[in-house]
Amino acid sequence: MRKVSLSIVVLTVLLSCNKTSEVNLIPKPVSFQQRNGSFTINGKTKIKIDSTDSSAFENAVHLVELFKSKGVSCTLETTINHDSPNNIIFTRTACPDSLGAEGYMIDVNPKAITIRANQSAGFFYAIQTLRQLMPADFEKNDFRAKSLTIPCVVIVDKPRFSWRGLNLDCCRHFMTKDFVKRYIDLLAYHKMNVLHWHLTEDQGWRIEIKKYPKLTEVGAWRTNADGTVYGGFYTQDDIREIVAYAAKRHVMVVPEIEMPGHSVAALAAYPQLSCTGKPLKVETNWGVFKDIYCVGNDSTFIFLQDVLSEIVDLFPSPYIHIGGDEAPKYRWENCPKCRTRLRMEKLNSYEELQRYFISRIAKFLEGKGKTIIGWDEILEGGRPHNAMVQAWRGIDRASEALKANAPVIVSPTSHCYFDYPVEVTNLQKVYSFDPVPENTVSEKIDLVLGGECNMWTEYAPQETVDSKVFPRLLAISEVLWTYPNQREYPEFLKRVRYHYNRLDALGVNYGFEQSAVEFKSSIGDVKNSIVVELIKGQDNLQIQYTTNGDEPTAKSTLYRKPIVLTANATIKAAAFNSGIRVGEVFERTFVVTKSLGKPIELSFKPSEKYMGGGLQALVDGRLGTPKYNDGIWQAVQGEDMTVTIDLGSEQQISSVAIGFLQNIPSWIFLPGSVDVFISVDNSTFKQIAQLDCPDSIRQQPMLIYRFNAFTLKNIKGRFLRFVAHNPGPCPDWHPASGSPTWLFADEVVVE
Ligand SMILES: [Zn+2]
Repeated sequence: MRKVSLSIVVLTVLLSCNKTSEVNLIPKPVSFQQRNGSFTINGKTKIKIDSTDSSAFENAVHLVELFKSKGVSCTLETTINHDSPNNIIFTRTACPDSLGAEGYMIDVNPKAITIRANQSAGFFYAIQTLRQLMPADFEKNDFRAKSLTIPCVVIVDKPRFSWRGLNLDCCRHFMTKDFVKRYIDLLAYHKMNVLHWHLTEDQGWRIEIKKYPKLTEVGAWRTNADGTVYGGFYTQDDIREIVAYAAKRHVMVVPEIEMPGHSVAALAAYPQLSCTGKPLKVETNWGVFKDIYCVGNDSTFIFLQDVLSEIVDLFPSPYIHIGGDEAPKYRWENCPKCRTRLRMEKLNSYEELQRYFISRIAKFLEGKGKTIIGWDEILEGGRPHNAMVQAWRGIDRASEALKANAPVIVSPTSHCYFDYPVEVTNLQKVYSFDPVPENTVSEKIDLVLGGECNMWTEYAPQETVDSKVFPRLLAISEVLWTYPNQREYPEFLKRVRYHYNRLDALGVNYGFEQSAVEFKSSIGDVKNSIVVELIKGQDNLQIQYTTNGDEPTAKSTLYRKPIVLTANATIKAAAFNSGIRVGEVFERTFVVTKSLGKPIELSFKPSEKYMGGGLQALVDGRLGTPKYNDGIWQAVQGEDMTVTIDLGSEQQISSVAIGFLQNIPSWIFLPGSVDVFISVDNSTFKQIAQLDCPDSIRQQPMLIYRFNAFTLKNIKGRFLRFVAHNPGPCPDWHPASGSPTWLFADEVVVE
């Protein structure tokens, strides 16, 4: 049905071609003017360059080849005669310095196209813009024409940020060489210039290292529970081919070689590099694992330096990403060699020991002319030697990097994680991203190099990657290229809808802009009620829903106006188009209780990533789903959760409950116990219950459990306090043993 509406767009464009054809560029340029008329490219067109200019020359050749592949043969000339008609001119003349290395100007009039740029990248981006000025069909592999027309325009353009990246995780799921090249093309088409290539992980080592063949013989393959073997790797020839392919398209490939954590695949190949030296298997589960490189072991550094020496020879990028994230310190704390290292280096903590590790690698790489990038955890023991930082746990981590005077690449989970479903991070959310933290002082703004979107692939085999990356990549490309005063979501969305033509022609299997159905709820004006709005993901859809537990069908109640709930209810809703369901069934449960919407006080600062929708999350009437990132759960790590609710007046209490999520692989545990107190004055509290749960529940890796007391008698009061006790660090048997656990709560229920 998306295709139907698009063909209407195509038709409209064709009909309007006689006037001025509509232009929709993504990312949007700094300045753009459309004029009457057009320029026609045909066999008589000459592509001309300043004879001495190799950067213009390579791009002119590129353009000649591009047109030729579409059936239009132009000639290339190295003399510029502005008077002769039908020229496409590449020149540096009169290109302002302020456009920098990547900026460009295009002037299309009926007689000539003039492209000005200072450097090769600028000419290249001008060509990408020319492509978007042509009909969408131009991008089809089998498109052939005798001539091409380009509308008359004047464009001046340059990027806001120099670092515009996509992080592609080819470890959790392997991606073929051709697929990676295709993504380089798609990045370049949208004027993005960094492929951050995640090449080593717990679940697979993906790059051939000549000196350590077992890294790919053993480390590139994992054996699933059902006995099937999964894996793959890139040979050094593959890597060189991809890097060269990217360089031609002005995409820098930055390899990520993870250390000291996320290294189980390497340790499975060479167990002597771990603290225990015991055999390990390449991981098949997702998560964070306690076995990491032993920092007390000199052979670890010899190994990593050998590996990095080969990496440095393969990747011309001046940057090497060394990971540095999610490294539990449990093994180090229990390893005699690591403890000796801590003592000998006079360090005060295992975070400082990690800093020692990273700094040692950073200095080694500096000797090879490379700067390291690490995830924001690398700041925890102090900024390692000259490190650049990639902020991921929140925009505030970017502020911390700036405080440490570290150049920063910003890619917070809140806006830039494209493995998250669109229900959590929709197109508009991505578009609202700004890499520069609020209140950044002007002298530090230049330390913000730009941003990246991250495509982690735990749950995304290659064939699903398009639908997660697109259309969200269009938003990130504009966030990173276009200046904020030029950006407005409704106008962007119009261009996106037009751009789908191009993505279709490019063979991109894009996904949704937002969830087909979104729930939005608020506390109602009527006493103790919740107002639930159902928002459709696309204009051409309608929503049908049920409140009796049945699956919604095209015959279920049509959503017309907000639903007012005065009692507990589960709403199941789905979007339909001409009677056919689009996307999945969405389900939310709401509870209408005495505590609904009442003032609440928290003893803790909820995680920025898991706010649950705000400080009122625990009394908003919404029950959580099994997904920890559904936007309903409120979370805190390594702390107790104490919440105090003011019921407004003294009331009889007959039952209390509070819901928690358990997701053990993700370090989310049920609380050890929950104490419940009552007070009339918010100062003297009396305990009324201690809530616990059976061991059989605690042993289940994933579930939702409501700690409750349903038969309270003779309890009266106004203030209720719940104290949920953090169960302590991840236990010994846990892959991340020793790391602080999370508490995830959704709702307090008081009757
Ligand atoms: Zn050790």
